[in-house]
Amino acid sequence: MTTTTLDQAAERRKRIEAERRRRPESDVWLRVLTRALDAAEQPVWSTLDPRLPSARHPDAPLLHEAFVAVDRGPAGRLVRGLLKAAASTAGAGAASLAPLRGRAVEPVDLLAAAAAEDTDRLAATAERAGADPQAFVAVARLAALPLLRGCAAALAAKLPAGWSRGHCPACGGWPAVAELRGLERRRVLRCARCATGWELPVLVCPFCDERDHARQVTLAPEGEENRRRVDACRTCQGYLKTLTTLAPLHPWAVPLEDLATIEMDLAVQERGFAPPAAPGFAPAVRIVAADGALARLRGGWA
Ligand SMILES: [Zn+2]
Ligand SMILES: [Zn+2]
Repeated sequence: MTTTTLDQAAERRKRIEAERRRRPESDVWLRVLTRALDAAEQPVWSTLDPRLPSARHPDAPLLHEAFVAVDRGPAGRLVRGLLKAAASTAGAGAASLAPLRGRAVEPVDLLAAAAAEDTDRLAATAERAGADPQAFVAVARLAALPLLRGCAAALAAKLPAGWSRGHCPACGGWPAVAELRGLERRRVLRCARCATGWELPVLVCPFCDERDHARQVTLAPEGEENRRRVDACRTCQGYLKTLTTLAPLHPWAVPLEDLATIEMDLAVQERGFAPPAAPGFAPAVRIVAADGALARLRGGWA
């Protein structure tokens, strides 16, 4: 582990603790998120080798129709760990996940459905197993974070130049937040799933491509307009939280900033705006279960 990685780990822990003190009610979610963020730093998720199709539709993210081999062992440990962390809480929905550990859920299938944003399949799995679908889907989404971040890191050099869609060029997810970055305040959207960043001009709605600024509205906590705000769209009622940053947010900081700005979500949702109901671009990604040594011998996927 390099010094930088250690610094990042310490910084991450400090940030999570600060958030836990600020909003004790987010403790459950932070516990599950912490596990997912810790897993994302493990080498097994940073050595993924997604195989891309030979051709790609210009709107499709790189992972659409890609093959990714995932080791069963680490996938199982990750999924069971997250279910355990979520189930160890008092909430009835989360507690319903407890019996799922070790049975009813095939971890690689769960990661595949979550990576493909196949919420129907995840909800059906939850219902079959007698678990609360909403809690199950939430945990499954976080379980896919190390996989998607690993894929995004492996594909960083292949991101399509001049990408101008509202969804992520790597995994198809919607942005969690936008950064107004550096002195030039370039707007960089950050994916809620894989943390990839891509630029989109300030006056374009990522969710419906509205470009008429008369249809857009900016809301900000009083006195904080220069630090954080929400850009909302009257055409699709979507909104995007926007943070001023000097340097790019580290990938682990993207979901944490999303959580730490939940007050802004609540304020704009009270005004009738809402997160998009449908996924950005649900990628038909093929996750292939592999067994460690065999997968490596075959160069990444079986
Ligand atoms: Zn993404
Ligand atoms: Zn819109």
